[in-house]
Amino acid sequence: MSTFCNAAPSVSWHTLETKYTKIVYQSESDLIKLDSETVYAHDWQGQSLSESVHKDFKVRLSHKVDVLFERVQQILDMRSKTKKVKIKIYPDKKALRLAYFALFYKKCRLKAWYLFERNTVYVTVEDIHAGMLAHELAHAIIDHYFSVRPPKATAEILARYVDKHLEM
Ligand SMILES: [Zn+2]
Repeated sequence: MSTFCNAAPSVSWHTLETKYTKIVYQSESDLIKLDSETVYAHDWQGQSLSESVHKDFKVRLSHKVDVLFERVQQILDMRSKTKKVKIKIYPDKKALRLAYFALFYKKCRLKAWYLFERNTVYVTVEDIHAGMLAHELAHAIIDHYFSVRPPKATAEILARYVDKHLEM
């Protein structure tokens, strides 16, 4: 018997480590998309991040994600030191759905989710935006802040509070 038909196409993952996160991605073009499509226009201290402060897009992207992370901590007023959150970036919706199926053995149409057991945010470059990433990072921060994880409904209210107040 051959196991050939079960062989999944091999995909290699790369990691971009930032101060608070580890961005895991498949190709540099996905990272570039993430940098250009994700509109974290401000660093919320008045400085525009869209200006090419950092010419190297990886440095710029890392900075944006870390600024967003700090903004989420600030909104929640939860600044405990946590392990770096993994942000797994899938190239498209199909790949994201397959990832969900591989984890939970059921279908789903979520655009993004956070899995505490792996301390990982799952997203696709097709759908990601600052509010969405902030929401999922909020779940990571909330779940690690309390000695006992809050109930799901409570965590969801707090995470939604973050996307509502992101721009203020
Ligand atoms: Zn949520």
